Amino acid sequence: MPLYGSIEAGGTKFVCGVGTGPGDLKRCEFPTGEPQETVRRAVEFFAGQQLASIGIASFGPIDCKQGRITNTPKPGWRNFDLAGEMREALRVPIGFDTDVNGAALGEQRWGAARGLHTFLYVTVGTGIGGGAVVDDRLLHGRNHPEMGHVLIPHDRKFAGACPFHGACLEGLAAGPAMEARWGMKASDLPPDHPAWETEAQYLAAGLMNWIVTLSPQRVILGGGVMSQIHLLARIDDQLQKLLNGYVEPPDLVAPELGNRSGVLGGIVLAEAAFYNQTK
Ligand code: ADP
Ligand code: ZN
Repeated sequence: MPLYGSIEAGGTKFVCGVGTGPGDLKRCEFPTGEPQETVRRAVEFFAGQQLASIGIASFGPIDCKQGRITNTPKPGWRNFDLAGEMREALRVPIGFDTDVNGAALGEQRWGAARGLHTFLYVTVGTGIGGGAVVDDRLLHGRNHPEMGHVLIPHDRKFAGACPFHGACLEGLAAGPAMEARWGMKASDLPPDHPAWETEAQYLAAGLMNWIVTLSPQRVILGGGVMSQIHLLARIDDQLQKLLNGYVEPPDLVAPELGNRSGVLGGIVLAEAAFYNQTK
C-alpha cells in the first residue's frame, strides 16, 4: 500500500503526517515561520520516507489550481508557491486544497461524514471557513468558496474585525472578533456571558444561509471557538428558530477526528494526487 505524506498548513502551525490513515499516522508539528524555513522543516520530516505523494490542506486564500497561497496578510506568504516548493524538494505529486476542504475529506473518509454525499465542514477559530462536499465532490467553483465572509443581520454594536468587510460573519464571530468586541479572550468568556448567545445567533445565521443554499445532510463544526461545549446546542436552538420549520435542520456535530481532520484530509488529497497521476 502506498505511503502518503500530509501537511495541514495553518497560519500559526504546520502539522505534518505520514501514513495511510488514522491507524498508522505519524505526526510532527512546528510553528509557521518564514516560508522557506517552514518548508525546510517539512521537507526534513518527509525526507527518506519513500512517499507516493503529498497532500496539503492549506490556510488561504489559495489558488487551488496553481498551488499558491494568494492574498494573505501573513508576512512573506503572499503568493508563496507552497505546492511547487514541496514538489521541487521531494519530487512527488502534490495534492493541494484549502484547510477546510481537506478537513471535510478527512471527516468523510474516517469521521463524522462517513457515508454522506453532501455535507459541510465549518471551522470557527482564528477565521471562519467552510468546506463543502456536494453530491460527493468537493465544491470549488471558480477557485474555492469563502463561506466565512457571508453577510448576516447583526446588532450593529460592533464594527467587525474583517480587514476586507468589517462586519461579515468572520469579522463578527471568529475568535479574534469576539476578543475585540468583549475585551477578553474567547476562551476566558464564562459560559453564562451574553457573548455566547450573540455568537450562537451569528453562527446560526451563517448556517441558515449555507443550509438553504447547499442542502447539506450534516454540518460538522470544528475550530477553537467550538471547543466551548455549550455552544453547539445554542446554535442548534437558534437555527431551529431561524429555519422556522420550513427546511428540516441537518444535524450539527463535532468533528469525529478531533484536531486531526485536516492532517488526515491531507492523506486523502495525497491519495487523489497519486491516482490522478497514474490515470
Ligand atoms: P486556527 O483557526 O488558527 O487554525 P483554532 O481553530 O485553534 O486555530 O482557533 C484559534 C482561535 O480559537 C483563537 O483565536 C481563540 O480565539 C479561539 N479559541 C481557542 N480555544 C478556545 C476556547 N477554549 N474557547 C473559545 N475560543 C477558543
Ligand atoms: Zn470578511
